[in-house]
This record gives sequence, C-alpha cells and structure tokens, in this order.
Amino acid sequence: MSGSLYTLIPELQPFARELIRVASAAGLSPRITSTRRSTAEQARLYQRFLAGLSQYPVAPPGTSAHEYGFAFDLLIYDAGRLPELGRVWVNAGGVWGGAFNDPIHFEYPGFVKHAPAPQFWNTFERVANWASFLIPQLGVGTETQEERQTRQQRLAAALGIPPGIRQR
Ligand SMILES: [Zn+2]
Repeated sequence: MSGSLYTLIPELQPFARELIRVASAAGLSPRITSTRRSTAEQARLYQRFLAGLSQYPVAPPGTSAHEYGFAFDLLIYDAGRLPELGRVWVNAGGVWGGAFNDPIHFEYPGFVKHAPAPQFWNTFERVANWASFLIPQLGVGTETQEERQTRQQRLAAALGIPPGIRQR
C-alpha cells in the first residue's frame, strides 16, 4: 500500500500537505497510512473488513475514492482529536470520513462513487462494445457514408458536442 502523497491527484496534494503541517504543529504526530490503492489492494482490505478485522469501514473494490487518488488516511497520536482535524478539512472544502464512521479518511470533494458494474456487463461484453465502437473508427468494415455520419452524430450527441462542430 502506498503512503506517498504523490500518488494522489495533484489538486489534493497541497491540501494533504497542509493538513499534515497543521497536525504536526498541534503535536499530533500525523502519519499517512494509505493514499492511492490498487483494486487488488482494495479487494484485500475489503476481505479483511468483511472478516471483521478492520477497525474502520472499507468500500468494495472499484468504489473507493482511494483507488482514484481522491483520498488518504491519516492517523494521529490522539485519535480523540481527529474530529478537530476533520473540522479543519471540512472548512477547507474537503470531505471528512467522520461523517461515515471513518474518521481517519480525508477526501477531495466531488468524488462520485462508481456504481458496481451490473452482472451482465462482463468483460466480454465490454470488449465487444468497445470493438463495435472502434472498428468503424478505424475504417474497418463496410460502413456507408450515411451510416458513418449517423454514428458520428450519435457520438457527438453523447459527448454533448453541439451539431455543426466538425469532428475529425
Ligand atoms: Zn480512507
């Protein structure tokens, strides 16, 4: 598990450093215990959590802000003072885990939990879907001019691009 702040999204790094500075200045001996996690790490932690071996809640793999570099965990000498740090964090615009029983968790605002993939959306279908999108892009197959325009218009609409802006 990585404890380096450099694995976090760049927007979060200065705020994380500042929180550590504040906690150090208050004599709380802050220690970063988790920053960005791989899905495998998240899965391992989640299994520990399900087994009752985790002091703090753990999100299912694929849904944690840690996997996207949007959160870090911070331990301090006196855990009873975590709410004070939480207040500092919330006042700076951040999301503090104390609101969901996870007081060591500090998160960048705006992270949207990804819904777990539905069961039918398996790897094969994902690949097939991407292939059907990419193959016409690559000019493979027998797409007519009209079909191509329709596909481009649909893609532009899906991306919110107003009609009339030409896509290369
Ligand atoms: Zn956390």
